[in-house]
Amino acid sequence: MKEEILKVAETAGYLWEKGWAERNGGNITVNITEWVDEEMLSLPPLTPPIPIGKVLPHLKGCWFYCKGTQKRMRDLARDPMGNGSIIRILPDCAHYEIVADKSVAPTSELPSHLSVHDWLLENGSPYRASLHTHPIELVALTHSRKWLEKDAATKMLWSMIPETKAFCPKGLGIVPYMLPSSMELAMETIRTLGENYDVVMWEKHGVFAVDTDIMSAFDQVDVLNKAAQIYIAARNMGFEPEGMSEKQMAELSREFGLAK
Ligand SMILES: [Zn+2]
Repeated sequence: MKEEILKVAETAGYLWEKGWAERNGGNITVNITEWVDEEMLSLPPLTPPIPIGKVLPHLKGCWFYCKGTQKRMRDLARDPMGNGSIIRILPDCAHYEIVADKSVAPTSELPSHLSVHDWLLENGSPYRASLHTHPIELVALTHSRKWLEKDAATKMLWSMIPETKAFCPKGLGIVPYMLPSSMELAMETIRTLGENYDVVMWEKHGVFAVDTDIMSAFDQVDVLNKAAQIYIAARNMGFEPEGMSEKQMAELSREFGLAK
C-alpha cells in the first residue's frame, strides 16, 4: 500500500517538473483494493457516507487513493496523505466514506474517475490507475483540425521514434472538446478507451490515461509527449519531419508483437 502511494507522490512530482500540472491541474485516482489489509478494514470512517452521484455496481467494497479537490500536484509530491485521501465504496455502490489519513475531500472529478474504474472492472481489465494531466505539446497538437482526425496524431507520433509505438502500442484516442468535469466527457472518455486506447486526448484540454499502476500510465503519456516534442523540434528547424515509413512501423509491430 505504502509503495503504491509513494508511486503516486513520485508521479505527481514528475507532472509538476514537466510543467503539466499548473495550480491544482490534473487528477490521480488509484484502485488500491488489493493492498487493503485486516488492520485497514477495521479503520473507522472519518466522514458520514457521501453520495457519488452515480451507482457504480462493480466498485462494491473497493478502496481508492484520490487526489484531494483543489490540491496541487507539487504539494502532493511531498505529502500524498495531506493532499489526497483513501476512500472506500459502501455496499450500496452509490456512496463512499473517507477512511484515511485526514478527511481531505476527493477531486471534483471523482464521479468520472470512478466511472472509468467501474468500467475497467466490468471489463476484467488489470488496470488500476487513472491519470489526467495537461502535457503541453500534446495539448498544442489538438488546436489543429488535422491532428484531431482519428489516428492522425497517433501515426505521426509513432513515426517520430520507434519507442513510441513500442511503449504506447495502442496510440492516442481523441475526444472532441466537452465541458471539463462533465459526465458527458466521462462517458465519451470511456467510449474512446473502449475503442482500444490506453491514452485519450481531450481536445484543447489534456490527456486521460489508464494502466496497471500510476507510473505506467504516466510513462505512456510521457513517451507520446516526447514524440510530439521531436515533431516540434523538427518543425522549429524549418522542415516537416519525414517520420518512419508505414513499412518500418509494420515491421516494429510484427517483431515486438505490438497491439496495432
Ligand atoms: Zn484538466
